[in-house]
Amino acid sequence: MRRFFYPAICLGMLLLAGCAALPEAETEGRTVSEMLDGPLDTVSTVTLYDWRGGEEPIEAVFALLYDIDARMSAVSGESEIAGLSGQAGTPAAVSGDVFGLIEYAKTVGAETDGAFDITIRPIVSLWGIGTENARVPAQAELDAALLSVGYEGITLDKAASSVTLEKAGMQLDLGGIAKGYACDRAAEILRNANVGHGIIDLGGNVYVLGTKPDGALWQVGIKSPVVGENGYFGVAAARDRAVVTSGVYERFFERDGKRYHHIMDPRTGCPVDNGLLSVTIISASAAQADALSTACFVLGAERGLAYLSALEGAEGIFVSEDLSVQVTPGLRDSFRITDERFQLVD
Ligand code: AMP
Ligand code: MG
Repeated sequence: MRRFFYPAICLGMLLLAGCAALPEAETEGRTVSEMLDGPLDTVSTVTLYDWRGGEEPIEAVFALLYDIDARMSAVSGESEIAGLSGQAGTPAAVSGDVFGLIEYAKTVGAETDGAFDITIRPIVSLWGIGTENARVPAQAELDAALLSVGYEGITLDKAASSVTLEKAGMQLDLGGIAKGYACDRAAEILRNANVGHGIIDLGGNVYVLGTKPDGALWQVGIKSPVVGENGYFGVAAARDRAVVTSGVYERFFERDGKRYHHIMDPRTGCPVDNGLLSVTIISASAAQADALSTACFVLGAERGLAYLSALEGAEGIFVSEDLSVQVTPGLRDSFRITDERFQLVD
């Protein structure tokens, strides 16, 4: 087994835990996705603090992550999600957790008026952002692909645990939600093993389990969304919470002086261009935080904040291109800006 001992600074979201002072930190970092475009395509780290119970929980978490990655990849032939492609109009049975996740994703699609849409795959494939084949598609290609996009075209049969993609060419992409779901399941494994203090980081999807060993809240640094910067601009205090960010800096390519990132507007088939640099969601559910960070990025600051205000338990941090920062009222006490270039606004 390969082992990495990361200083806290290597985490996707900086954890200002003062690692040196913490006892018995055990960190394991692995890149889970074997495939290009699998949902767990970044380094995943699991860190247990003050833990003397051996490696079993970490091994169980990575076994889970491999399983989820294999079953939820949009591209691998083995995957349940990829297996739905090309089956338009025909019900296909999927496992219970895949069914539940598609059902939840469809709900978020309906609640956000289609801003979050897991049928975005034909558009994602055309752009190829994050692959060697990234390019700007022609409008005619986008128009054709958009005919196959629309979450309303997913029919679910709970009794049969089956999914039908109704329109020709429809394909699913769980890239906007699968890491969060995996984070929840990983946290559940650790909790069931009686791990009291830990951090799961699946490429920008962070879950802080329990408190720091001394009982204090974790201080989660929120990464600066300015492309090319590695530091953090603010810190959120949390316990038993997912902290998930969607941003322009995560995955992009440049062509003719213009930057194209990976979060797509399902209406236009193009990268969202609404003045936002990043959206961070903090919630007890990482699947929710993941879906909503993507959804709120597409909705934009105004509609995103309005959507969150109607939801119980999900808080948000919106950063705009002028480095102004808007947060939901529930974060006023637990989030602070640490980089003075960023300004909190109402
Ligand atoms: P995230 O980093 O969680 O915001 O997810 C971005 C990923 O979700 C992309 O790489 C795509 O695979 C997928 N995606 C892109 N746009 C959307 C969208 N509007 N709704 C749902 N998933 C999307
Ligand atoms: Mg997401």
